Amino acid sequence: MSGVSAMTIQWFPGHMAKARREVTEKLKLVDIIFELVDARIPVSSSNPMLKEIIQQKPRLILLNKADMADRHVTEEWIAHYAKQGLIALAVNSQAGKGMNQIMKASEEILKDKRLRDKAKGLRPRAIKAMIIGIPNVGKSTLINRLAKRNIAKTGNMPGVTRSQQWIKVGKELELLDTPGILWPKFEDPVTGYKLALTGAIKDTLLNMQDIAEFGLEFLHSRYPGRLMEQYQIAELPTDLLTLFKEIAISMGYITNENEPDYEKTAEKIVRDIRMQKFGNLSFDEPDDEPESVEI
Ligand code: GDP
Repeated sequence: MSGVSAMTIQWFPGHMAKARREVTEKLKLVDIIFELVDARIPVSSSNPMLKEIIQQKPRLILLNKADMADRHVTEEWIAHYAKQGLIALAVNSQAGKGMNQIMKASEEILKDKRLRDKAKGLRPRAIKAMIIGIPNVGKSTLINRLAKRNIAKTGNMPGVTRSQQWIKVGKELELLDTPGILWPKFEDPVTGYKLALTGAIKDTLLNMQDIAEFGLEFLHSRYPGRLMEQYQIAELPTDLLTLFKEIAISMGYITNENEPDYEKTAEKIVRDIRMQKFGNLSFDEPDDEPESVEI
């Protein structure tokens, strides 16, 4: 099954329309959107229609799971967004890093509106915000962090509605306790592989060997040294199939027929990437993006 059709299993057009409707409804209640993306794949983990859905609503981009991304690439992303007039922050919701900057950045983004309100004689009030992102990007973790208690059930499902409430984050910020859940991109298999390698989508949705092959190619071109070290390979072959074979042999993954066990090898490679055995990796880079494309 191709990556493209496999990923649509979770998101039928009906689900997408409902998710979009839910976000649109909540939009009216807030001053600002916190768009949560995975710092390792800021583009692949974003929703392709976000700008169209949120229209003119101000947004703060939060590069979550920054603890697992390549720090230099994350800095490049922040600069890239800045060039487009967007503020992006690197955060680690799990450890609660970067939380203080969220308030400051929100105030900066809403500065003009707040000045206008003041000129109109309106009393300053807390900024109202909502979190939007694809499944597994860390929305519930962030809500719980900001709330400093367990509010959002992590791993919640799109479309499961319950009454929503405001969470007070200090005096200046009120956050909707239910995030907006939108779908990831699924127009190209590469996005699917990146989502799979970062654990955003289940393995079963894509072919494991395809994911491993993509991961291997990525490591081969960007981090050959780490690849050689991890699998004890003295010289990297240029051909991917040979490399796959050498890793299988080096790991002792051999079938009863005395052939390299490609399945087991593929699983191992994917597992090692996810478990940070090659260190922090960023799979999307600003240089991959055409200059003209607005994010
Ligand atoms: P949601 O579906 O967007 O609500 O995502 P969750 O909040 O359930 O998070 C998905 C997984 O990512 C969970 O296992 C979290 O513990 C993990 N996670 C969330 N934020 C971070 C982070 O900043 N760093 C790391 N390392 N893991 C995170």
